[in-house]
Amino acid sequence: MSNGTVNAALGSSRPRPDVVVIGAGVIGLACALELARRGERVVVVDRGEAGRGASFGNAGWLTPSLAFPLAQPGYAFKALKWMMDPESPFYIRPSLDPALLGWVAKFAFSSRRSKFTVNAPALVGLCRWSTDAWEALATSAGPEFGFARRGLLVVLETPHGLETAQKAAAYVETQGIPHESWSADRVRAEEPIVTGPVSGGVYHTRDAHCVPNLAVQRLRHEAERLGVQVIEHREVTGAVVEGRRVIAIRTPSGEIAADRFVLAAGYWSADLGRAFGLRLPMRAAKGYSLQFARGTVHPSRSISLGERKVTVTPHAERLRLAGTLEIVGDDSSINERRVNAIERGARGMLTLPNERAEAKAWAGLRPCLADGMPAIGRSPRQENLWLAVGHQMTGLKCAPGTARLLAELMAGEKPTFDPRPFAPERCC
Ligand SMILES: Cc1cc2nc3c(=O)[nH]c(=O)nc-3n(C[C@H](O)[C@H](O)[C@H](O)COP(=O)(O)OP(=O)(O)OC[C@H]3O[C@@H](n4cnc5c(N)ncnc54)[C@H](O)[C@@H]3O)c2cc1C
Repeated sequence: MSNGTVNAALGSSRPRPDVVVIGAGVIGLACALELARRGERVVVVDRGEAGRGASFGNAGWLTPSLAFPLAQPGYAFKALKWMMDPESPFYIRPSLDPALLGWVAKFAFSSRRSKFTVNAPALVGLCRWSTDAWEALATSAGPEFGFARRGLLVVLETPHGLETAQKAAAYVETQGIPHESWSADRVRAEEPIVTGPVSGGVYHTRDAHCVPNLAVQRLRHEAERLGVQVIEHREVTGAVVEGRRVIAIRTPSGEIAADRFVLAAGYWSADLGRAFGLRLPMRAAKGYSLQFARGTVHPSRSISLGERKVTVTPHAERLRLAGTLEIVGDDSSINERRVNAIERGARGMLTLPNERAEAKAWAGLRPCLADGMPAIGRSPRQENLWLAVGHQMTGLKCAPGTARLLAELMAGEKPTFDPRPFAPERCC
């Protein structure tokens, strides 16, 4: 491959990059920014518009109190039960597809408590650090992204739900995440939008939220300020691999060579990973969000409707609802029945404006590895390929920490976080 080919793909005057990041979602852009801060010359390549994948319309929560691996004790059993109910918050469509069955078996195996007690603190720690990093970004000069550190209120309808939420809160408190227990009266007094049945609330005082698409644009802004080149509408279609080294990635307008490569293509990392000889056990967990114009009663903090598994995020001019987790392949279609179940669930608990701000809901594919943990680190196949994939429900809230960990590992530094729970070797 000639240098001419490389320059043709990048634009004639651009020098060869040190690192090419594949995927301009929140994870890819956070990695690009962190690497650029360390003086690396970085190019990010995305097949679409930057930030239009799962990172675009998510709930915007930066909540270490809820930074758990998808695979949790009891979840495998619940998933089996929920398979029977297409409106349930966690749904796996029954199928005999061997890839899906393999994923479900690994997921069930990873849901055991011994795994959870290692993985959960790792993820909570990554998220706690990341929330502070988001706050530091929000308080520095630059485009705003609606960051607000006003906590998360989990509202429970039943005594059993309250007890479960209190146990979870006591657990995350041992990881440095404080909370308060609120009576039903206090929940209603503090958040008059809650008009449904309430047993009590758990208020996580240090959680935060932001507007997700603006947060991604802010990362891009910072990265470009440091010289990162973001190439949009350029699909990565393959790779030139020689032995244990990646030489270049292939795109329709030529190859792009670099010293190192970061795979951060969200759910689609599994497909693309095959070009590097990787077999990532990835499924998408589809979810939806919908928005309302700011009503006369607007919450002052994020609210989780505990039993209904609906998230409520108060932005300046909008109220965003999000929910459902449907295990699918590459399918972003919108199932109105499930979207309506989110809205109906929320209306059962909250006083909402009559009409949505936009009739059409947004759908996103959370990238889920079978053990519900992200893979952050060097590829077991190539020495200069690095992975930042599989962030399931936690990509926004863990992006800065992921980028920090990856950059430290790439530089051979002592990492801020224990890399073992995130090691790619476990899954590919
Ligand atoms: C309803 C919902 C609510 C959520 N709420 C939250 C929340 O409150 N907090 C939180 O932390 N997380 C939340 N999440 C999860 C979060 O959105 C994801 O974990 C995160 O966006 C994943 O980021 P990513 O960068 O890995 O993937 P993506 O944002 O999907 O980015 C991947 C990028 O790779 C690009 N790409 C794919 N294939 C190629 C290719 N061949 N060549 C070039 N580019 C390619 C895509 O175009 C895309 O831009 C939610 C998700 C959903 C669906």
